[in-house]
Parts: sequence; C-alpha cells; structure tokens
Amino acid sequence: MEKKIRIVEGDITGQTVDAIVNAANTSLLGGGGVDGAIHRAAGPELLQECRQLGGCPTGEAKATRGYQLPAKWVIHTVGPIWRGGTRNEDALLASCYRNSFKVARELGARSIAFPSISTGAYGFPLERATRIALREARETLAADDRIEEVVFVCFGQKALETYQAVYREAFGEESAGGSSSSRRK
Ligand code: ADP
Repeated sequence: MEKKIRIVEGDITGQTVDAIVNAANTSLLGGGGVDGAIHRAAGPELLQECRQLGGCPTGEAKATRGYQLPAKWVIHTVGPIWRGGTRNEDALLASCYRNSFKVARELGARSIAFPSISTGAYGFPLERATRIALREARETLAADDRIEEVVFVCFGQKALETYQAVYREAFGEESAGGSSSSRRK
C-alpha cells in the first residue's frame, strides 16, 4: 500500500497524472501561488470553466478539465486559513484531502497529485499539514483499490524534507521518490 505514495520535489503543473489538485480560494477565480501557476499552465479556458462553478466552500472540492496541462483534470479544493488552530483548521484540511479523493474516484482518476494545501499564503504549519495529508492518503489507499498512485509534489527543499521525515515517522521506511521536474516559478 505504501508504495502507492510518492513524494517528489517540483512543480505540480508538470505532473503526468490523471488529476492534479489545486489549492484554490473560495471564488475559484484564480489567485497566487500554486493556483496562479495552474491557471497559467492550463490556459484561459480553465478560468472560463471555473466561472461556471459558482465558487467552492472551504474544505470542499470541485473538478474541471485540465486543458493544456498534462493532467486530464484539475480538482480545485479550498484549504482553511490558519488562525492558530482553534477554528477547526485540522478537520477542514483533512476534508480537503478526503473530498479531493472523492472527486477523483467519481472522475475515475487512478493517479492524483497534491500540492501542500494551505501551507503557503494560508499559513498552515507545514509539518502539521503534512501529517494530515499523509494520514488521509494512507486511509484512502487502504480503503480504495481504484486509486493507484498519490503524488505529493513538494515545492522546494524544505517541503520535500518535511514530507520525507513525516513519511518515515508514519510508515517507518523511506518513501518512493521518483523523477520530477525541479522547475521553479
Ligand atoms: P494556500 O493559499 O492554500 O496556502 P499557496 O499556493 O499559497 O496556497 O501554497 C500552497 C503550497 O503550494 C505551498 O507549499 C507552496 O509552496 C506550494 N506551491 C506554490 N507553487 C507551486 C507549484 N507550482 N507546484 C507545487 N506546489 C506549489
């Protein structure tokens, strides 16, 4: 089961998987960080489709096509803004992962790549977020045979080291790495 989780450093827009997850905001109309990178790489049709979705509440997820991305679909989820940990942030972040997996199953996606949701502009502590991400992936993979591969795309060395360390702590072994572009914005 653990073999299905891959941790790579790179840019999520270059990932060749069925679906990539976008850490969007509630408007779904684009933003900075990974959201901006995904919209730039997918092209303007992505924004057109997003306009039809009517936004997305925090913790939920909605899909669009991937347009010029190698990924067939983009699953847009809205992470919680970190407010010190007292506003249900942990549960909301977990529900981003769970709902993204649910949407992926509905699409028939077998491989899915995640950025580190909420840990950029939204300020969620990286290690705490990583524990939640890996726990949710592990639980989904244990319960679901259809999803074959979950890729965590770490943007930079610090994120990569954190994911690897949390993976070792949780699974007691090295994660499968894998080739990935290390292109930076
Ligand atoms: P949020 O608002 O959910 O915090 P951000 O986009 O600000 O979203 O950051 C989420 C994470 O995505 C951060 O860890 C950031 O380093 C990372 N990130 C930014 N650009 C990319 C990219 N092109 N590919 C993968 N991860 C990215």
